[in-house]
Amino acid sequence: MATTETPREPLTTTVDIPETVARLRGTFASGRTKPLAWRRAQLRALRRMLVEERPTLEKALQDDLGKSPLEAHTTEIGFVINEIDHTLKHLASWLRPERVSVPMALAPARARRVREPLGTVLVISPWNYPVNLALAPMVGALAAGNSVLLKPSELAPATSNALADLLPRYLDTEAVAVVEGGVPESTALLAERFDHIFYTGNSTVARIVMAAAVEHLTPVTLELGGKSPAIVEPGVDLATVARRLAWGKFTNAGQTCVAPDYVLAIGDTAAGLQRELGAAITEMFGSDPRKSPDYGRVVNERHFDRLTALMDSGEVVVGGSSDRADLYIAPTVLGGVSPDSPVMAEEIFGPILPIVEVADLDEAIAYVNDHEKPLALYGFTDSDVTKRRLTTETSSGAVGFGLPIAHLAVPDLPFGGVGESGMGAYHGKASIDVFSHTKSVLDKSLVMDTMRVAYAPITQLKEKI
Ligand code: NAD
Repeated sequence: MATTETPREPLTTTVDIPETVARLRGTFASGRTKPLAWRRAQLRALRRMLVEERPTLEKALQDDLGKSPLEAHTTEIGFVINEIDHTLKHLASWLRPERVSVPMALAPARARRVREPLGTVLVISPWNYPVNLALAPMVGALAAGNSVLLKPSELAPATSNALADLLPRYLDTEAVAVVEGGVPESTALLAERFDHIFYTGNSTVARIVMAAAVEHLTPVTLELGGKSPAIVEPGVDLATVARRLAWGKFTNAGQTCVAPDYVLAIGDTAAGLQRELGAAITEMFGSDPRKSPDYGRVVNERHFDRLTALMDSGEVVVGGSSDRADLYIAPTVLGGVSPDSPVMAEEIFGPILPIVEVADLDEAIAYVNDHEKPLALYGFTDSDVTKRRLTTETSSGAVGFGLPIAHLAVPDLPFGGVGESGMGAYHGKASIDVFSHTKSVLDKSLVMDTMRVAYAPITQLKEKI
């Protein structure tokens, strides 16, 4: 992982950005990326890369985030392989034109919806799942027949380097390019004309991306974050809830966009939940999580300082220790947290789980609705009425009952936010929708002119019939 003693050179690019974009646009214009065979070949090559270069990618993820090889595989490399397999299996049927019926007045005629690729797509990805969030959008963009420019995050430099090195060795370099770097490179890229911009990251930069897209009327997908609540009702099995919450929260040291950000503990659940969270954390990471090979690190000093400052927002009931030199923050649970405290004011994006006590479901729903729309909302309840109320009375990118974060592993569930947590969604068929234009085609034969009734002078309609 990144350490304090050896600051890395900022990532920059040697690639000529305007020339690269022009090349990708030229390739798309030539029609090279459109055939199904080309798309499938790229997906297979990407899959081969993930299999053959798994050790390289695992090492990069270890260097950037202290991710264990198993976690690197399940949440990143294997995840993208599954996405590719699902796409390869269904792509031909997803791309098949869809017949629709024609109104009587236009009959006889045929109408269909046909998907066409958008052109050249820019993917800007973040550091927290730097393989998954760079390559999963790319799977959709390639499957839909686009040329693609990827800008990985400079905050995961080892993974950025690995992707810049590996992707050109496996994919069609006329149609796929990687530009490494940070703000200057992103700024230069956003000045270019793309046919779609797919951005994953924070909502401040999302506004910069969207403002830049205005220039060329470029459509954008914004995959953002926010504070995803976990609502716990009395009467549930708190040991199971705690294990699932701990898994969802402390995977990748809490740096997951859909991690449960905070708990709204209804009624008398807080005390039992805190106790069970302590037990679950020990079960998963041992009595000293710092020594656990399964526990990651915070990405850099800036985030470390931000996170440790949030520890004062409540009573530390589990964890609480940290070491800046190692970028280690223990899995931490804060009890008795006030809704007005700093930890409740921003997305935590680290291994701190605050518990806010609320009287009842009404208060929990009111709290959620009083804040920005989250990327996910989790409900831990045995009640169908509560599930229905949470689904219909709140708004979020997704809802998970009984299990956090896992909805994104269901390929047929579109993954994305709403409001401040983003716009647009992808994964599986939804990715084809994002990276395609659905063109309406009406086809009426010239053989018999049944349209004569509609031509002027329409006052003489009767005579024409
Ligand atoms: P980050 O700092 O890596 O930034 C993301 C990308 O934006 C990087 O490629 C970066 O170079 C680029 N960027 C930064 N400043 C820019 C600028 N001024 N102009 C243009 N591009 C710029 O990652 P981050 O934003 O810290 O990521 C964390 C956030 O992302 C959290 O809010 C998290 O919830 C969210 N997130 C969302 C998802 C999702 O799928 N919805 C996934 C992961 C993370």
